[in-house]
Amino acid sequence: MGSEMKAGPMRVLVTGGSGLVGKAIEHVVEQEGGKLEGEEWIFLSSKEADLVDAGQTRAVFKKYRPTHVIHLAAKVGGLYLHMKENLHFLRDNLKINDNVLQTAHETGVTKVVSCLSSCIFPDKTTYPIDEKMMHNGPPHDSNFGYSHAKRMIDVQNRAYFQQYGHRYTAVIPTNVFGPYDNFSIENGHVLSALVHKTHKAKMEGTHVHVCGSGDPRRQFIYSLDLGRLIIWVLREYEEIEPIILSVGEEDEISIKEAVDMIAEALDFQGKILFDSSQSDGQVKKTASNSKLRRYLPDLTFTPLKEAIKMTCDWFIANYDIART
Ligand code: NAP
Ligand code: GDP
Repeated sequence: MGSEMKAGPMRVLVTGGSGLVGKAIEHVVEQEGGKLEGEEWIFLSSKEADLVDAGQTRAVFKKYRPTHVIHLAAKVGGLYLHMKENLHFLRDNLKINDNVLQTAHETGVTKVVSCLSSCIFPDKTTYPIDEKMMHNGPPHDSNFGYSHAKRMIDVQNRAYFQQYGHRYTAVIPTNVFGPYDNFSIENGHVLSALVHKTHKAKMEGTHVHVCGSGDPRRQFIYSLDLGRLIIWVLREYEEIEPIILSVGEEDEISIKEAVDMIAEALDFQGKILFDSSQSDGQVKKTASNSKLRRYLPDLTFTPLKEAIKMTCDWFIANYDIART
């Protein structure tokens, strides 16, 4: 940790604090002893401040006067929402990110950890992808709006360091899932959408319809594992260059394997059908977690089956409050 950061207890503002990743960080802070003495953690929702708006962003920073920011707030969605709304993903995220980073700068925030995503990596690439390859060519066409907005966070972080010496950095998670995800069948990410679809099919005695061929491959990280790692980045990681937060390459699985795990967790005995007329999106985006492993050689992740089971259990127990 830098000497500046040791000056006093942190006051951490978590933008996007009401979402999947924000709720996981809140759990680690409040339930797992993640908060150190004297620290204050504030979890923001869009209801308190619409960060697309510069005035509301400045007002909320003035209210809480954070020393540190974990910046998660973003317009977020699964493949099929991206394909319909690239312009909204681009504009909303460009504005949110500029408002948060510039207000952090203007109000003297010591450190910002922003959230990128492995889907912003170049589409035509060699594998595994690492942190140095982010800008080596256009992202996949399905989500170019979101991807370009997210890439600019990295550009902006480097510029804040160059001109002002700020230690603003970013993390690059692969596909995240867990409690408090958006379980919308139409707009959610693959795992949460399939949990909801499978539960519904079981209740109604129908089939599960998986979009696409089931062949694409993804690395899934459980939100609680990610939450712990983001807090580690906030406390310990000093680089400006982002760091990939992911399970290993060997833990990458196909969408078909993922839906089989969900079916097992929910004890779904019906048919699982694949609709190959729908887009597969990126075939794969295999990311290397070697840099993370160099920092944390003993790191372990919650086994995927176990994490999927806990997510399914959470969804059923919290059906009334879950975002669907
Ligand atoms: P999420 O569950 O959809 O949560 C998004 C959060 O952003 C919510 O707290 C939401 O607030 C807030 N937000 C959205 N628009 C806002 C606005 N205009 N002003 C203020 N707040 C706004 O998403 P998530 O999965 O936790 O994503 C968190 C971060 O991780 C994002 O930066 C995302 O790009 C990144 N990421 C996610 C994944 C994934 O698979 N989910 C993978 C890689 C990276 P309200 O709910 O109160 O509206
Ligand atoms: P991505 O990882 O950024 O592409 O985003 P998603 O989390 O939306 O995952 C998309 C992948 O899951 C694609 O290969 C889709 O064809 C596949 N998939 C299968 N069924 C679904 C579904 O119901 N919803 C979503 N979002 N993706 C699905």
